[in-house]
Amino acid sequence: MPAERPSVQALRALRRGLRLCCPRCGARTLCRSWLTLHEHCAECRLRFEREQGYFLGAMYVNYGVTVGLALLGSFAVEWSMPVSLTQQLLLWVGFCSVFPVCFFRYSRSLWLAMDYWCDPWGNDATEEDEDEDEAR
Ligand SMILES: [Zn+2]
Repeated sequence: MPAERPSVQALRALRRGLRLCCPRCGARTLCRSWLTLHEHCAECRLRFEREQGYFLGAMYVNYGVTVGLALLGSFAVEWSMPVSLTQQLLLWVGFCSVFPVCFFRYSRSLWLAMDYWCDPWGNDATEEDEDEDEAR
């Protein structure tokens, strides 16, 4: 079987990230609740948080997407309808306050998917490590 092209792997990682799926197996086991993730995948046992502070990069994803959408949206609104500067500010300050909270788990999922695509980690970070950690 021929190896997959990097573009196909990248699209699969992006799709799994947007669907809140495990980057390794694609099972929908990532989220525990609205703001929390499971520690590992229920199907393949992949540990999601590789190390403490791992999801710091997700903040950059969240910030970048929020700012990008706000900039594009403000230009689109400015060019398509007559609104005052005050209305624009109210709209985009509101957007920039609410959107990052709604996008929180997607930013973590996308960060996880991108990281797994760039540097897939194997069974070195699975449940067995957790058992060893708990035994100490
Ligand atoms: Zn999995």
